[in-house]
Amino acid sequence: MPLKMKAAIYTGDPKLEIREVDVPKVASNEILVKIAACGVCHTDEGYLEGVPTFKKPPIILGHEPSGQVVEVGKGVKTFQEGDTVLIPPVLTCGTCFYCRNGRETLCRNQLMLGNHIDGAFAEYIAVPSKDIVKLPKGLPLIESAIISDAVATPYHAVFNRAKAKPGDIAVVIGCGGVGINVVQMLKAAGATIIAIDLQEAKLQLAKELGAHVTINPKDEDPKKILKSTFPRVDLVFEVVGNPKTQQMGFNLLSPGGKLVLVGYSPKKWDGVFSGKVMFRELEIIGSLGCPPSDFERVIHLVKEGKISLKPLVTARFPLDRINDAFDELRNGKGIRTVITINGD
Ligand SMILES: [Zn+2]
Ligand SMILES: [Zn+2]
Repeated sequence: MPLKMKAAIYTGDPKLEIREVDVPKVASNEILVKIAACGVCHTDEGYLEGVPTFKKPPIILGHEPSGQVVEVGKGVKTFQEGDTVLIPPVLTCGTCFYCRNGRETLCRNQLMLGNHIDGAFAEYIAVPSKDIVKLPKGLPLIESAIISDAVATPYHAVFNRAKAKPGDIAVVIGCGGVGINVVQMLKAAGATIIAIDLQEAKLQLAKELGAHVTINPKDEDPKKILKSTFPRVDLVFEVVGNPKTQQMGFNLLSPGGKLVLVGYSPKKWDGVFSGKVMFRELEIIGSLGCPPSDFERVIHLVKEGKISLKPLVTARFPLDRINDAFDELRNGKGIRTVITINGD
């Protein structure tokens, strides 16, 4: 095992620094994973813009990795060297009230990669084995990196939080890296899907991956189209994280409808008409990440071909060019970019 590795370090400056650092040592309950690829996410971009990380810089960012096990801690029974794995972005304690009640995304002792602990924009990472999931043979290791957040988060939103059912009429606002997979998950659930976005290319992809109707609010009024085309709207997923689109989503709901907030907004949204919520039995639901215990189900959907990965990974950058990858993200280019780290 090499003693040194390359890593992209966040020092507090919006440009990441590539440095040589020590390969992490493996504790008894941990495995050492040689990273194959790690997705580039808006959450990382948030840190670069000044949202504080729990671990003070210098810190290695990156929380959407896939890779191969290269060393196994003495106490680990469930992994072997050579296993290909997916690492969930958030590792849970397994013993707090929320973990023991099936609400692991709310774990009070959670550790997020590239936030509480060093992340995966590096050649290696050491992580507790408890929440790590094996990737079956036949899934592409590089593209599978995006499962851990961009695919798993929509699974939780659609199946656990919204409890989508066949025949539900569902609107997705924002069809970027996460929203496009809300579309795919809704298709797997058997819903009728309306996709809303300002970019034609994203609407086109949403159509290819399962949206029945697409609406660009620059050209058309979503409310008008929905009213004239569908009997009702059961579910709205807001995947932008903006009070304006949250309001748009709320206004689209039919009686009994649910608005699921998947996008994070640091701004206050005070547009809720509580009388309407009461009288129409509306629900406003938050959705955060995905419990690691559901990752096998998420991987199953990918393996069965219900979720396509290849069209979603629209760019790959080597670790040395990670700052270019963030420039593309800032420019809103592509759906999902991955940093390829060991081989390709
Ligand atoms: Zn992410
Ligand atoms: Zn916990």
